[in-house]
Amino acid sequence: GATIGILGGGQLGRMLSVAASRLGFRCHVYEPAANPPAADVAHRTFTAPYEDHEALAQFAKGVDVITYEFENVPTAALDLLESIVPIRPNRRALAISQDRLSEKAFLRDLGLATAPFAPVDRAADLDAALADIGMPAILKTRRLGYDGKGQARITAADQAGAALAAMAGAPAILEGFVTFSHEVSVIAARGLDGRVACYDPGENVHRDGILHTTTVPARLSMAQQTDAVILAGRILNALDYVGVMGVELFVTPAGLVVNEIAPRVHNSGHWTQNGCVIDQFEQHIRAVAGWPLGDGSRHSDIEMLNLIGEDVARVPELAGRADTAIHLYGKAEARPGRKMGHVNRRLPQPLNAPPMSPRGR
Ligand code: ATP
Ligand code: MG
Ligand code: MG
Repeated sequence: GATIGILGGGQLGRMLSVAASRLGFRCHVYEPAANPPAADVAHRTFTAPYEDHEALAQFAKGVDVITYEFENVPTAALDLLESIVPIRPNRRALAISQDRLSEKAFLRDLGLATAPFAPVDRAADLDAALADIGMPAILKTRRLGYDGKGQARITAADQAGAALAAMAGAPAILEGFVTFSHEVSVIAARGLDGRVACYDPGENVHRDGILHTTTVPARLSMAQQTDAVILAGRILNALDYVGVMGVELFVTPAGLVVNEIAPRVHNSGHWTQNGCVIDQFEQHIRAVAGWPLGDGSRHSDIEMLNLIGEDVARVPELAGRADTAIHLYGKAEARPGRKMGHVNRRLPQPLNAPPMSPRGR
């Protein structure tokens, strides 16, 4: 059988490895940190930094294709890996989404709505950017931000200094504040043959900057649902993308606004494990392995709840619920803000309602 290489050994790499193993593949995981969650299920784990080109070459030579659960792999490492074996999704998708500025410019050039934005490469750029964008605004580091880290809101001019300080000298982007009613995401997949399949959009609620719940179906009109799926397809096609992508959207009265894209399986797609026959992890492995995509249609309404830090203490109670599937990542230490696992709860079907009708309209 073929062997799939995965860059990054966190929970996403772990769940990708489980799906790959079900399809008869072996997984080799490359992860700088010791004892990552994926190591429990991968066939082989390479523990070395991305600067270790000997280890990278050895890793690449042992696999048939490389994919990733982590976007911030250094360019030099990717150059080396790609000279040995294909990387899917491709380098362009990775490069665009590694930098919030290129990401926003790409989306705007596709004709999609984004927050207004302006680059803040150095402190002196902020005044002009604020004059351009207005307030309220959000200053974000261009690279390496996640879970709302590296962001500062500016609602009054006297907050500009503190916002700049929060960037710690890193290149930043100023975004106008989007007034949205709620947030949704589309998990979309594109196969090697160019076929696109999207999961039903999920509605996301964040707590302290970290995804708290995803609920499907999301509160969207039929027209909004169609818009969401079509715009995701346009993004994937424009990138000649192969694999699963998460597309985060703001729902506004004027339409859907794209917040960001993640060129990988996504936390807001974990509900698919118990809401669909083929989940996002199997779908991603199918795509990067060149298999046909599976059917991503939803058979149940689901609420996904992340278990963050000490939330994991609720597992014994949650395990007693017949409607709840439990997914734990095998992390030993429950540090604050750390994603320890998640649960998918099947929501009751309203009596006599068509099974796919969006809730709450
Ligand atoms: P993730 O963990 O999803 O990768 P992140 O750190 O990359 O998050 P964003 O998704 O850009 O950060 O922002 C985090 C949250 O902050 C968003 O989900 C949204 O609630 C809010 N937010 C971000 N940008 C804007 C904006 N321009 N207008 C209004 N709210 C915003
Ligand atoms: Mg992000
Ligand atoms: Mg986000």
